Amino acid sequence: MDRIPVAGPWITRKEIDYVTDAVTRCWYGNANEYQRRFEAAFAEHLGVRHAVSLPSCTSAIHLALAALGVGPGDEVIVPDLTWIASAAPITYVGATTVFADVDEQTWCLDARSLERCITPRTRAVIPVDLYGGVPDLGAIREIARARGIVVIEDAAQAIGSEYAGSRAGSLGEIGVFSFHGSKTLTTGEGGMLVTDDESLHENVLVLRDHGRMPGDTMFRNTRVGYKYKMSAMQAALGLAQLERIDELIERKRLIFGWYREELHGLPGIALNHEPPRTKNSYWMVTVVLDPGLGLPKERLIQELRREGIDTRPVFDPLSSQQAYRETASVRDAARRNPASYRIGAWGVNLPSALTLTREQVTRCCHAVKSALGAARRP
Ligand SMILES: *Cc1c(COP(=O)(O)O)cnc(C)c1O
Repeated sequence: MDRIPVAGPWITRKEIDYVTDAVTRCWYGNANEYQRRFEAAFAEHLGVRHAVSLPSCTSAIHLALAALGVGPGDEVIVPDLTWIASAAPITYVGATTVFADVDEQTWCLDARSLERCITPRTRAVIPVDLYGGVPDLGAIREIARARGIVVIEDAAQAIGSEYAGSRAGSLGEIGVFSFHGSKTLTTGEGGMLVTDDESLHENVLVLRDHGRMPGDTMFRNTRVGYKYKMSAMQAALGLAQLERIDELIERKRLIFGWYREELHGLPGIALNHEPPRTKNSYWMVTVVLDPGLGLPKERLIQELRREGIDTRPVFDPLSSQQAYRETASVRDAARRNPASYRIGAWGVNLPSALTLTREQVTRCCHAVKSALGAARRP
């Protein structure tokens, strides 16, 4: 029986041809050709002015905060339920991390919790489009605008998602994406920062290349910056994937549809949510179990592993991680962020690789149902 992987890309001849071309030809004078094409196509796809290719989404968030001048004494709000990459760059720039709760249904930043976390020191908020779902970005933007807070939308998991007719990642002052091997569009490792703001864009370009002005050929450094650039081979892979983006998103939605057919309506489980006027790109098909079933995520993961099915736990809340244990931000977090603690404890990501077959999904659903059945028996 084959093992079913939890994630994985969909690579075709096109990707192999583009990468082969880049590695053969794109050096020195041509070294930036694919990055330029990838960035232009990405900006157009999203409907934004500027896209900057980077080595990761983590570096994109770091550059976003650095370009905004966020630093010591400032506070930045993130949802408690996300991958640590959403939050770690807040520490890189010396600012203070504030953990807000998520919404029970979307599993994304809750606007009311955001409001409660705001202080006069709040500079930015980083809503996360978790597993391809989107938070109520209209409400979040309104709150942020009224208080002069910058929105950095972490769309690492949400290429292809939409909110009120706009593409995920285009709804804040800055949007960031990841092209890690597990993500819907991959470059192996990679990331993108998008913005409509001219001066932020310029700041990001200078900061990502050791303080060099765009086009500099004299190796002059206007300030101490970072070295965050994507290679031609990664950009070639990204461009090929982007030219197939509709097909990739449709596949993700098809796979979710197969799961929904078999699991929807089973008592005691919730699947990814798609509120009206939004589109979920279902990066990871996820089940959140009712605590009443008495089937903690660790046990479901174990039982599926025994059937040759790889899964991932939904993240434990960041405020519960050892990494943040010594910080003041986590005081009282479990009480303040009950949704994050419930979903974090009872959630599991099911196999969501783009090359998954219907038969494999059926096998996964049978295994989930039999684990649920066993949990119900006294
Ligand atoms: C994957 C991911 C990131 C980080 O992406 P990298 O490219 O690995 O740095 C950030 N935020 C979220 C929500 C992610 O899922």
